[in-house]
Amino acid sequence: MRIGGFQQFSLIDYPGKMAAIVFTQGCNFRCGYCYNPRLVCPKQFEAPLDEAAIFEFLEMRRGKLEGVVVTGGEPTIQSGLVDFLGKLKAMNYAVKLDTNGSNPDVLAGVIDLKLVDFIAMDIKTSMAKYEKVIGVKPDLERIKQSINLILNSGVRCQFRTTLLKPHCTEEDLKEIQKMIGDSRQYVLQLFMPSSSIIDKSLLEQEHYTRNEVQRLRLLFQRGF
Ligand code: SF4
Repeated sequence: MRIGGFQQFSLIDYPGKMAAIVFTQGCNFRCGYCYNPRLVCPKQFEAPLDEAAIFEFLEMRRGKLEGVVVTGGEPTIQSGLVDFLGKLKAMNYAVKLDTNGSNPDVLAGVIDLKLVDFIAMDIKTSMAKYEKVIGVKPDLERIKQSINLILNSGVRCQFRTTLLKPHCTEEDLKEIQKMIGDSRQYVLQLFMPSSSIIDKSLLEQEHYTRNEVQRLRLLFQRGF
């Protein structure tokens, strides 16, 4: 796997677990708000990290760390993902996989092989507006397949949306709610302006305030 970053310890990225984080290099989307272009845009890639050194570290931390989060970039475009997750499971780590949902076949494979204990998927907005958010032409059927696959997998899951004005409105959230149903496994995130994001023009635009996001969260929980 091409690994662009490694964090030895986190208490917030794997709910309920002390976890290390592996950041894979490369993504098939180009979300304007992405704050990690060095994991997305090939021109900004640095030399990949040594996978063996990461496993050495994880071996030393067995019994202390509880889990490993594999995130991106987009992990499901990595040809070595199945082997990598298999090694983590063989070391008895709980594994959380973050994905943009573009590769349901890969997700089906890792679910069938019982290589993941938690899947978190971004739902960027309603299907009609997806392209505006991700910056490339989406295969919407594959996104929908991933959502249904995850929902029916029995694997612990979470869906997340970063609210980007005007591409994710109350109407768009209604559509997302219809797709996922249970709001307990859904997280609405505030867009956080940062100088590192891919599309700097977003910094000039108006964005949701914390209060507006809170209102939308409540609407999502109670029903629109
Ligand atoms: S899918 Fe995630 S990693 Fe890829 S560009 Fe979008 S926000 Fe960045």
